[in-house]
Amino acid sequence: MKPDLFEAPDYFNIDDLLSEEHKLVRDAARSWVKREISPIIEEYAQKAEFPKQIINGLAEIGAFGPYIPEEYGGAGLDQISYGLIMQEIERGDSGVRSTASVQSSLVMYPIWKYGSEEQRQKYLPKLATGEFMGCFGLTEPDHGSNPGGMITNFKDKGDHYLLNGAKMWISNAPFADIAIVWAKNEEGRIHGLIVERGMEGFSTPETHNKWSLRASSTGELIFDNVQVPKTNLLPGKSGLGAPLGCLDSARYGIAWGAIGAAMDCYDTALRYAKERIQFDKPIAATQLQQKKLAEMLTEITKAQLMALRLGQLKNENKATTAQISMAKRNNVDMALKIAREARQVLGGMGITGEYSIMRHMMNLESVITYEGTHDIHLLITGADITGMPAFK
Ligand SMILES: Cc1cc2nc3c(=O)[nH]c(=O)nc-3n(C[C@H](O)[C@H](O)[C@H](O)COP(=O)(O)OP(=O)(O)OC[C@H]3O[C@@H](n4cnc5c(N)ncnc54)[C@H](O)[C@@H]3O)c2cc1C
Repeated sequence: MKPDLFEAPDYFNIDDLLSEEHKLVRDAARSWVKREISPIIEEYAQKAEFPKQIINGLAEIGAFGPYIPEEYGGAGLDQISYGLIMQEIERGDSGVRSTASVQSSLVMYPIWKYGSEEQRQKYLPKLATGEFMGCFGLTEPDHGSNPGGMITNFKDKGDHYLLNGAKMWISNAPFADIAIVWAKNEEGRIHGLIVERGMEGFSTPETHNKWSLRASSTGELIFDNVQVPKTNLLPGKSGLGAPLGCLDSARYGIAWGAIGAAMDCYDTALRYAKERIQFDKPIAATQLQQKKLAEMLTEITKAQLMALRLGQLKNENKATTAQISMAKRNNVDMALKIAREARQVLGGMGITGEYSIMRHMMNLESVITYEGTHDIHLLITGADITGMPAFK
């Protein structure tokens, strides 16, 4: 793979709107990605393996629980810093960002927000250092966009719960130490349970043959009469709103992360277009390639402003689920379109692993589907502005 010469576009001087802390956090993540991710990621994506050796580094740049308070081992940063870290990691690879998103927003967040004090003390510090890795089980084989229909369930057996069912498409599942599992009780109410690797009847087979997020490990969660201690139930919140609250946090991070992938594709295409000579001049001097590059930068700039404003709203606890949906949908779609255009700027070279673009493009096909599909986020906006949900 080519050396990482990435330079981040900032056409509207958005850096001027960031604090010194934001820039420090962002720059630390940026140099870590250049040093630790760029040199190895193509190889791991090609062999479809998660590079486990990066876990310590992810923890050190604050990627595990950036906004979780320091008393629980988190970095105690604000939401904009969280977003910037996700942007930088996804600039390297969406699969690595997925691992960090799951750990932070889908595992640490529910334990922090819905867990007991004992659960917080037991799990959060270890999750923050990467000593424990976690996964989040919501999606089932027959319930993806409609998780409320889930059939995974648990029964009260007096001194423990008995868990049965299956989850699929679960990021980090094959190596996770713990799983936050969403399941229905006997009354049909959804609760979160902390299931630990090693509990009898719990297995996590890996999902193979993915053409997307190849450097992220994906698997199933299978529960065959798993006895879960009662102390592992998250007591603070139940109902579908509990997992959806976690998804709000993760989707917000994705809205930033997608900008990273788009910036990398744009930057690669710009550099290539300036160097590639056809018909005796750089292709960057042709109107058609300039149109592509100018439109990419315009879309990146709009996405940056949207993410930053959403971050300000998140910091004030004012961001709505519908606003987060709009930003996730817009920014991922923007990144995928830019990846496709940037790939064309590179001609045949664009399809090789010499450059990051094709990997980003394939990754983004998952990102546009997980954490709520492109369609579902549109329906969330539609329901919000009309008051008429069109899901059914
Ligand atoms: C690589 C990867 C990692 C993932 N990681 C996780 C994870 O860690 N944890 C987890 O719980 N899940 C995870 N997922 C699952 C992901 O969230 C689901 O794939 C997603 O929610 C869509 O569900 P589905 O695949 O069952 O598609 P479906 O829900 O079957 O949707 C199929 C199509 O129908 C459309 N559709 C559905 N309902 C409607 C409607 N009412 N109106 C119009 N169109 C509709 C959808 O937009 C989509 O285009 C992951 C998925 C992938 C691919």
